[in-house]
Amino acid sequence: AECSGRVAATTSTANAGQGPALTGRLFRELPISERTLRGLEASKYVKMTEIQSGAIPLALSGRDILGEARTGSGKTLAFLVPAVEYLYRQNWSKMDGLGSVIVSPTRELAYQIFQVLTNVGQEHEISAGCIVGGRSLAEEQHAVANMSILVATPGRLLQHLDESPGFDASALLILVIDEADRILDFGFQETMHNILQHLPVQRQTLLFSATLHNSVHRLGRAALRSPEVISVHHNA
Ligand code: ADP
Ligand code: MG
Repeated sequence: AECSGRVAATTSTANAGQGPALTGRLFRELPISERTLRGLEASKYVKMTEIQSGAIPLALSGRDILGEARTGSGKTLAFLVPAVEYLYRQNWSKMDGLGSVIVSPTRELAYQIFQVLTNVGQEHEISAGCIVGGRSLAEEQHAVANMSILVATPGRLLQHLDESPGFDASALLILVIDEADRILDFGFQETMHNILQHLPVQRQTLLFSATLHNSVHRLGRAALRSPEVISVHHNA
């Protein structure tokens, strides 16, 4: 999968077939840009799922989020919409450095998130990429320069933070930790804590997980400030 460059339209297959349960609430009712709405509509996203309608308005208002909802409930848009909107509202450009990083447990999941970002962000002038360790570090170092949003696996992200000259997360606005339970199951607890050491304390953080077991709460305590906890329990 191609994993860098300006966010641009690709063929949308994101929403084919059977999808998650939707609420009656519409993306169009959110205080978000027309650009994002057009990107959502191009991917046939009209109504929100429960985790989306719970998390997005609070995240847009600047709150940290601890979100729990099962696989397939639509967590990707619950963090991508606030992340893209935050950078857009700040008029974020390539000159401003890394504005958002999305940490994902596996390369495959990172690619999937990047694809959704590519579709939903297609009307925005946001440069986005993945760092998942598929290429040499030197090649990635070149590719990550001037990225506004990165989707990254934990080990590779920390490697860049430690070793890549000019890779600077000091201005980061919004951190997303996706599938936190799996990140921890894979043994990335210490890696995550080391990543946090590189990031500004003044930032927004959105943490999503299918389950909130103890180690997820521990990571949440380290990463989040007074989070809103949003749990979607039933199978809706
Ligand atoms: P999760 O991360 O919670 O496992 P995803 O974000 O991967 O869930 O979404 C699961 C599926 O539901 C994807 O195919 C996605 O395109 C679809 N989906 C998500 N949100 C919506 C929505 N608001 N309307 C229609 N389909 C959606
Ligand atoms: Mg997911």
